This record gives sequence, structure tokens and C-alpha cells, in this order.
Amino acid sequence: MTEALGIDYMALEEAHSSGVYAKRALTIVRGAGAYLWDSEGRRYIDCVGGQGAANVGHAHPKVVAAIQAQAAILLSCPEIFYNDQRALLLQKLTQVAGMQRAFLCNSGAEAVEAALKFARFATGRTHIVAAVRGFHGRTMGALSATWEPKYREPFAPLVPNYTHVPYNDLAAAEAAITEQTAAVILEVVQGEGGVRPADGDYLRGVQALCHERGALFIVDEVQTGFGRTGRMFAHQHYGLTPDLMPVAKSIAGGIPFGACLIGERVGKLQPAIHGTTFGGNPLGCAAALAALDVLIEENLAERAAVLGDFLRERLSDLPKRFRAQVREVRGLGLLFGIELRSKVAPVIKALQNKGVLALSAGLNVLRLLPPLVISQADLEQVAEAIEAVLTELGASELA
Ligand SMILES: *Cc1c(COP(=O)(O)O)cnc(C)c1O
Repeated sequence: MTEALGIDYMALEEAHSSGVYAKRALTIVRGAGAYLWDSEGRRYIDCVGGQGAANVGHAHPKVVAAIQAQAAILLSCPEIFYNDQRALLLQKLTQVAGMQRAFLCNSGAEAVEAALKFARFATGRTHIVAAVRGFHGRTMGALSATWEPKYREPFAPLVPNYTHVPYNDLAAAEAAITEQTAAVILEVVQGEGGVRPADGDYLRGVQALCHERGALFIVDEVQTGFGRTGRMFAHQHYGLTPDLMPVAKSIAGGIPFGACLIGERVGKLQPAIHGTTFGGNPLGCAAALAALDVLIEENLAERAAVLGDFLRERLSDLPKRFRAQVREVRGLGLLFGIELRSKVAPVIKALQNKGVLALSAGLNVLRLLPPLVISQADLEQVAEAIEAVLTELGASELA
């Protein structure tokens, strides 16, 4: 159809897009389940998964129906009013998360921003402890918690009083958390930072230090939430009780939406200290209600655990078989990473040529974030494509 219209979408984006994204030469026009189609009609197995926004799969019929129905009823309804969809979503979301309240917003960075502001408001303190390789978003507060120097340096000075400590190092956390610490913010698996899972003992230790020293514990589940790691939320693997939990990405089946769950230790928040126009909008709430129903009805968290085990088992010997190219295979559920000894970009390109779309996490980690509805047969295809690409690239390096 695109050719029939004679429109060059890539050229249009090149001419008019901001320029802050490095793009692949591929125009995606349609999705269903774990598949995407480009403008030429070619089908791909999707292991990008909307960068984590597509856990229930593309165009899930229940999410589509909820969006279509709500669009014809009410789109805009700021939180100066109550709303039916919002009330039902707040009930379901807090129940699923096991936390009392939630602030609703539109993206991950906003959910993190809310957590940081609430932590400062609730404690009257200003210091934030974050982790080396942690990623929490790109707005100024969230960026201050993000570690990657490439993202930070052009925008210095950032918000003051942020400290970054080595991940999985409890002694370093112990030294950094003081009576001035408003909050510690961590991911259970560092996603953008290279698919690095935390030790349960480390996370529990940090939580205990927060309790001991009057700081709040922010667990950023923007990428790990909603079934991705094999539990509804990744912190449930380790029995944690976050005080603040930013979520977004997959929360509303692909519609832009986010939330910051709020636990009891936060205490009472006051009107007017925070807010956003689109927060808790009925369209997003209806979509999120449908997406949560799908996650629960289709047991997608358990599916992620089973399929994640399959993939880990299937690819566990890569470091041995491709010793010169693969350093490590790691992850939790279907948040999957393969650390290479060289740059990942050529591998991603070669996979695309074989009909598999994958992500990077940093310069040398291949990251897979397939929709949780993906079939085991398609994951097997992905595994075979990775093996074929490593074989080809290995051979060309030797030649
Ligand atoms: C993606 C991500 C964010 C930022 O979410 P946006 O919706 O892109 O603003 C924050 N934290 C984590 C852990 C993420 O993976």
C-alpha cells in the first residue's frame, strides 16, 4: 500500500524528526501478537516488543476492543473529577501490586519523577542513592538517577545530591545510605544497563538499610513489571515491599501510560504537590484494565517464566560454543540478555535480515524483550537465527 501511494516514510521522518533517535532502515506498519510487518509486507518475529510496552502482544483483541469502546465514550477527564474507568483501574492495579495507592501518569520517566518527588516530600530529605548502570528515564530528575554518562553529560548540571553506587554491592550501599537519604532507587534487573539481575540478598539488604535509616525504597519496575520476568512484578521473586514503585511500558497494552504505586511508609501526600493533565485519563485506564485482565487470564507471567527457562536452557551453551564471541547469557523470565565480546549492532542487523527484530542494551549486549504471548516455536526460530548469525559473523571475522 505504501508503494502504491508512493510515499517515502523514511525520508519524511529523516527530514522532520527531532534527530535524537538512531533508526533502523525499516518502516513498521502493523503488528499482531508477537509479529510485526514492514511496509513491504515482510513479517518479523518481534523481540523488541515495543521496548517492553508490548507484553500482551500487538493488537490484542481485548485491548483493542476496550480502546475502541472507551474512545466513543470519553477520552478526556482530568483528575479534578472522579471517573468510572479510573476508579476500577486504581482498585485493580493496587490489588495486583499489593500497595495501597497509585499516582497515574503517562510514561516511565514521569512515574520515576513522581517517585522521586514523593520521596523528597515524604521524608523532607533531598539525597537520592541510585546504582551504577541504572536507567530510570530522561527527564531531569529521572536522568539524575540514570547512570550512563552519554545520557547525562550534555545536560549537566543535573539535580544535586544524587549518588551512584556499584550494583549488587551491599557494603557500598551501606556506606551511601545516610540520615539525609530520601530514597534509594534500583531496578530488580537492570534493563537498559545490560540485562543484569540483582542478587535477592542485595535487594533485601538495601531494603533493610532503608528501613533502618528512614529512607524510602523505590523499586523501578518500568521494564520488569507486568509479567516480564516471570512474576507480575520482579520484586516478588525476592519478597520485597517497595515504598514507591514506578511502572509504565506495558501497563496499558501499548497505550502511553504510567503509574507510581505508593506504599504505607510514604504517608500522606497533599493536593497540588504534583499532577499532570493526562494522568488517569479514561482511555489509558480502560486500556490498562483490559491489559491487566489479559495478563491474569492468560497467565502471562507464568508463561514468561516457562518460556524464559526454555530460552535460557536452549542458549546456555552459547558461551562455550561461541567462545570467541559470547561472554555470558543472563536474565530473568523473558527479559533476556546475551553479552557479546564485540559490538552488538552487526548481530542485530543480521538478525533483522533473518526476520528477527532484537534490541541492544549498551554497546555489546543483545537484549530480547518478546511479547509474552510469543510461541515456543517462534523462540526456537529466534535461537536458531542467533546461532546462524554468530556462525556467519564468526566465519567472516576469521576470513
Ligand atoms: C524505559 C524505562 C524508563 C523510562 O520510561 P519512559 O517511558 O521511556 O520514559 C524508566 N525506568 C526503566 C527501568 C526503564 O526501563
